[in-house]
Amino acid sequence: MQDKPVALVTGANQGIGLQIAKDLVTHGYTVLIGSRNYERGQAAVAEAGPNAHALQLDVTDQASINAAAERVRNEFGRLDVLVNNAAISSTSKQPGQSVEEYAKLNRASTVSLDEVRRIWETNVFGVLAVYQAMLPLLRQSAAARIVNVSSGAGSLGRVADPAFPLRHIFGPGYSASKTALNAMTLAMAIELESTNIKVNACSPGFIKTNLNNYEGTGSVEEGALEPVRLALLGQDGPTGTFTRWEDETIPW
Ligand code: NAP
Repeated sequence: MQDKPVALVTGANQGIGLQIAKDLVTHGYTVLIGSRNYERGQAAVAEAGPNAHALQLDVTDQASINAAAERVRNEFGRLDVLVNNAAISSTSKQPGQSVEEYAKLNRASTVSLDEVRRIWETNVFGVLAVYQAMLPLLRQSAAARIVNVSSGAGSLGRVADPAFPLRHIFGPGYSASKTALNAMTLAMAIELESTNIKVNACSPGFIKTNLNNYEGTGSVEEGALEPVRLALLGQDGPTGTFTRWEDETIPW
């Protein structure tokens, strides 16, 4: 039986997910680097250190999810932390296209349903499918934590305010997928509120990664801070929250 706590980070072969994995290794966790491409996962392991292991995991592929859960069960018998980090921002963004330009072309009246379905398949249904497969293993932990990496872009409380400056970017694809992820977060937290498993969502901030064509302004180190804080919450920590920082809640 594994002594060190075990964490799984989905989409951890690059970006904020890789940094979350590195930080959890530093905090003494054995970290499974979820990667849809196993070789890219192995390359990330080489960066994250000896307590990291690559785990093939495509969150849109039920067979891949089942195999990943089976491997965790066989090798570790439990899971202490699940960070649902994997996401896509679009399937049709052109190289060099800004977030503003993409949003303008993908409004509710013009976005293709295929684009919306593919984004939600990863960002919403993928998270729910991984949750369902991993929950029996999380229940084997004394105090498991689930972190859903969401986005301030999905905050209905913000976009409903006509004065919110980024309101025009809200659309049915990425932004609304994060609204739906927030709803899933509450559904999970409510289901588990009588257990020792805490479920929280956060925004990592606007971070320079592949997701936004490196338009973001913050570093991956900064982006990993809030997800890692939530992964390490103590027994007295909250569940069912949506935060940017410990002292900064984001409206649902
Ligand atoms: P990123 O660098 O593009 O990383 C996204 C990761 O998700 C990649 O490892 C990608 O794998 C993986 N992924 C995509 N589809 C997948 C699938 N079907 N199965 C498994 N993995 C999959 O983006 P990031 O900025 O670090 O994003 C991390 C999280 O932060 C996301 O949830 C994102 O929505 C959130 N976020 C980011 C920002 C920001 O400014 N960057 C702001 C708010 C929220 P591949 O390498 O194979 O593509």
